[in-house]
Amino acid sequence: MNVQVTRCTPDQSRPRPDPNDIGFGRHASDHMFLMEYKEGRGWYDPRIEPYRPLELDPAAMVLHYNQQIFDGLKAYNLADGNIGLFRIDRHADRINLSADRLMMPRIEPDQIVLAIESLVRVDRDWIPDAPGTSLYIRPTMIATEPALGVRVSRRYLFYVIAGPAGAYYPEGFNPTRIYVANENIRAAKGGAGEAKTSGNYAPTLYVSQDAVDRGYSQVLWLDAKELKYVEEVGTSNIFFVLDNQLVTPPLEGTILPGVTRDSVLQLARSWNLDVVERPVSIDEVLEGCRNGVVREAFASGTAAVVSPIGQIGYDDEDVTISDGTTGPLSKRLYGEITAIQYGRKPDPFGWITRVD
Ligand SMILES: *Cc1c(COP(=O)(O)O)cnc(C)c1O
Repeated sequence: MNVQVTRCTPDQSRPRPDPNDIGFGRHASDHMFLMEYKEGRGWYDPRIEPYRPLELDPAAMVLHYNQQIFDGLKAYNLADGNIGLFRIDRHADRINLSADRLMMPRIEPDQIVLAIESLVRVDRDWIPDAPGTSLYIRPTMIATEPALGVRVSRRYLFYVIAGPAGAYYPEGFNPTRIYVANENIRAAKGGAGEAKTSGNYAPTLYVSQDAVDRGYSQVLWLDAKELKYVEEVGTSNIFFVLDNQLVTPPLEGTILPGVTRDSVLQLARSWNLDVVERPVSIDEVLEGCRNGVVREAFASGTAAVVSPIGQIGYDDEDVTISDGTTGPLSKRLYGEITAIQYGRKPDPFGWITRVD
């Protein structure tokens, strides 16, 4: 694959954010990667261009039937001056997992990696330097064929955009309060919960707004069949420390297979901790919070890495996890993963891809 690069002119260059107020998802870098697909021809015309709005036919199939997938990963300025991408192979594989579920064409993992590396090279000066900051990268695929009627599109666009992400914990690594959704669900068995596809998110907004109105920051999702087993928290995976065991729900099709989830599991196993993937009922969690069996709970995801949970609300009751402060394993995992991401510690699992 030969990526054509068209660099932006100085007047096309985008405004830089205030380094003290970068936030998340608010600023796009100067360039984007694009590549088209047509049935019978395959992927063609890989290129980097100045960031710009897309032109889409109003009948483009993504706008009507939501054949869309995306992913999210980060590039970091490493301690040694290089640029590192975190677990890009795993993200490339997940893009293809999502593509399969949505009947969209696969992309060779090497080409996904090359697309992302090419963009990061061109926009390397958009990777912020301050501690805890990074460049967030959003690969996306959409169905572009202009046609109404529900069927598989014959044309697609794959594009990659990026933008600086500020430190997630500027005010400290503090636990959140989450609210159990006990009427609404995110994904059912046989559905598309394990794919990162836009259709999984809009229907959750209504539920998360209700949680926010009640004073919580996120929703804790239960399984769709019995509303009994814990699945995910917001757009993150969930872990509990039950006595001395690290427990997370198994991947059985309804849960997004988080790359951070996998990193937590690998690290914890390498530390010889007792780790198990098994169904966890909400009753077990609530009871365990009351009697002290639940020592810690945290969410895992690319944006926050590890996000400690201090309180869980269910109906009108709140239970507090341990003493409501951040637990030692949450701190250790956050410290270790971020140290590897920023190249402050060796990378024993080969998670970092260096971009030169
Ligand atoms: C992206 C996402 C996650 C976390 O995945 P990471 O690869 O760790 O960022 C978890 N759950 C949902 C629903 C997600 O969309």
